[in-house]
Amino acid sequence: MLLQQNGFECEYEMNVFMRLFFDASDDVYVYTNLTYEGDIIDAYCEIICNGDTYFGEFTLNKPKTGIEKTDNKYSSVCCTRAFINAAQKITKISLPWGAMCGVRPAKAVTKLVEDGMSYADAHKHLKEAYGVTDEKCKLACKVSQNERKILDGIRDNSVSIYIGIPFCPSRCLYCSFVSTDIGTTGKYIDEFVENLLKEIEITAQMLAECGKVIENIYIGGGTPTTLNENQLERLLSKINECFDLSNMNEFTLEAGRPDTITREKLEIAKRYNVGRVSINPQTTNNKTLAKIGRRHCVGEFFDAYSLARDVGFDVINTDLIAGLPDEDFDDFKKSIDNLVSLSPENITVHSMSIKRAAALRHKISRLTEAECMNKMLSYAQETLENNGYTPYYMYRQKNISGNLENVGYAKDGTFSFYNVNIMEEAQTIIALGGGGTSKIVTDDGIERIFNFKDPIEYIRKFDEIVKRKNDIKYLLKGGTLNADGK
Ligand code: SF4
Repeated sequence: MLLQQNGFECEYEMNVFMRLFFDASDDVYVYTNLTYEGDIIDAYCEIICNGDTYFGEFTLNKPKTGIEKTDNKYSSVCCTRAFINAAQKITKISLPWGAMCGVRPAKAVTKLVEDGMSYADAHKHLKEAYGVTDEKCKLACKVSQNERKILDGIRDNSVSIYIGIPFCPSRCLYCSFVSTDIGTTGKYIDEFVENLLKEIEITAQMLAECGKVIENIYIGGGTPTTLNENQLERLLSKINECFDLSNMNEFTLEAGRPDTITREKLEIAKRYNVGRVSINPQTTNNKTLAKIGRRHCVGEFFDAYSLARDVGFDVINTDLIAGLPDEDFDDFKKSIDNLVSLSPENITVHSMSIKRAAALRHKISRLTEAECMNKMLSYAQETLENNGYTPYYMYRQKNISGNLENVGYAKDGTFSFYNVNIMEEAQTIIALGGGGTSKIVTDDGIERIFNFKDPIEYIRKFDEIVKRKNDIKYLLKGGTLNADGK
């Protein structure tokens, strides 16, 4: 693929959309040209593909709201829409999100509303400027409205805590998270937990010194319930001992893999104030589970779910993935219908996202996947809304076919505070353990401070973790970091 632009360059955005339609090795030449006349932007695109030429155009009358800040954005939207119009003549792929390429469409809506648009006008704007379908406009506006219910309640001096446990019983083939297979790293879990307990002590002291209150704790990974009962109890009791939990909205334990869940672990979690657990089938088709390396069957998911109900958690979340290998619409429909019949408080629907090098990439046809996934997501949205769920957080990842989305649905009063906060980056998040990123909200934006991803590195370079916590303390007290630290 080769790109040339004239009048305005937006290589990043163009590459995002070019990759949705073509492979890097395809014989494709793309040229865009942009002209301005007053508030009118005219874009023209020419694609030469395997010797044939295709044209696309797009004209935008720049909206009056927020023009100064977003002038470049509208120019890149025009280029990408002209490109999409031309590319669709070749591959017929439809993009329900049109030329929106950001990872947080609801945040874009919130921004438009804060700039003075009504939600109805924001809907119209997404549709006209970006080419977003009515269904996705409605979704983005609804998520924005729901997120605001959570965001408006965040206290100024509050933080959320993320604790990463980067171990899983086996590695799922599609995994793009921070995780290691305990077949290889299991022998390090004890030492990892020891260091994590120290990090909890240091963090608790730091937060107390800075006058911060904890609103949410999320233990994720990886699969935290890969820890055995003893390790899990030590972790949770340390959290209860060190952190002040009296201002908490939510305490989540990701018990993602059903094959790691026991009654005893769930009872320990309940005893130490965990209110929300995530138990994730991803699909209710055994054949698919085997194909994606999950090493558990659907029956184990149903058993783990019943155990969690029995133990009495306030909120159970269940995750599904649309577009798993060789699954058709009926397979996905069955998974959604099965979950709805269980009636968990939260259902999160992910779209299959495959990193460039992931093991499954070659198995998937770009066009059929994009069309089928959109049908699956539409079915999920309609069915869940008809059964008392509402979408309350949403994000997109690179390399999702058709540029589709991941959506968290919840029954009334069970929105996950942590999920909304992390999406909207509206509250400081302090990360502990393996693979987390602390995000410190400052007057100048977000400062990111990383923990090591690899558990062995986390153990061996623990001094560096302590140093980074000192940097966080400095930021929480209003300091700024230069390139070399303080
Ligand atoms: S359970 Fe989740 S974190 Fe673990 S390997 Fe599978 S996808 Fe990755």
